[in-house]
Amino acid sequence: MTQRLPALFLGHGSPMTIITDNPELRAMGALGKRLPRPRAVLCISAHYESRGRIHLTTGAHPKTIHDFRGFPEELYRVQYPAPGDDALVDRIAGLLGEDRIHRDSEWGFDHGVYGVLLPLLGHAETPTVAMSLDRALGPEQHLATARALAPLRDEGVVIVASGNVIHNLALLRQSQGTQPGWALDFRARINAALRAGNDTALTTFAADDRPAANAINSAEHYLPLLYAAGARLPGDEVAIFNDTLDGALSMTSVLYGDTTLLA
Ligand code: ZN
Repeated sequence: MTQRLPALFLGHGSPMTIITDNPELRAMGALGKRLPRPRAVLCISAHYESRGRIHLTTGAHPKTIHDFRGFPEELYRVQYPAPGDDALVDRIAGLLGEDRIHRDSEWGFDHGVYGVLLPLLGHAETPTVAMSLDRALGPEQHLATARALAPLRDEGVVIVASGNVIHNLALLRQSQGTQPGWALDFRARINAALRAGNDTALTTFAADDRPAANAINSAEHYLPLLYAAGARLPGDEVAIFNDTLDGALSMTSVLYGDTTLLA
């Protein structure tokens, strides 16, 4: 029998995180060393968006995409040459419905993918499928999609969602080095909801909820969180780690499954 793998949400932050020594990077690496070796990775990236269908990367070797500007040359040399896994794509199509899927041979592995998988795994050898956020879906539908994917965890697949719970580029510069009240408020609320398994509190925000509006902003970095929360299974424990906050950016990460992997 295959060992059940966790569902993870990993904060990725700035692309610089990949090439800078920092506690978050080290924590991902320590988790990766304890992780049962996955057969494949399904990675839901904040930087891969679609509308109307869920896109999945296909092909023997999806390309590495350097989807950022103005960073040091060293970052543009980072490669994630992991093999694709078209059998996993077929399996996902079976779970979600063929009509919801687009097999994408154009896209590849963006920095949302390798920004967490390189620190976590320490290599690019595990077959990897990247999955887009279908922005035509509402929050409940993202959760439901994730629930449908949960069986993969018993098939040797680790589900890794990559984003940031608090991510507001417009407020980033002015807030660096501080811990704004709205961000502390939002972090506390979301962490409590994650620990309690309160999906409603993850998906429903009042129109005048200023902390949520600031934190979620354009939403693409928040929505991957729903793919980890939705993929939890009965018997899972939940652990929050890398729960750091710098202004309008948090690195909060979540594990569903065997929390001793973080010990
Ligand atoms: Zn990002």
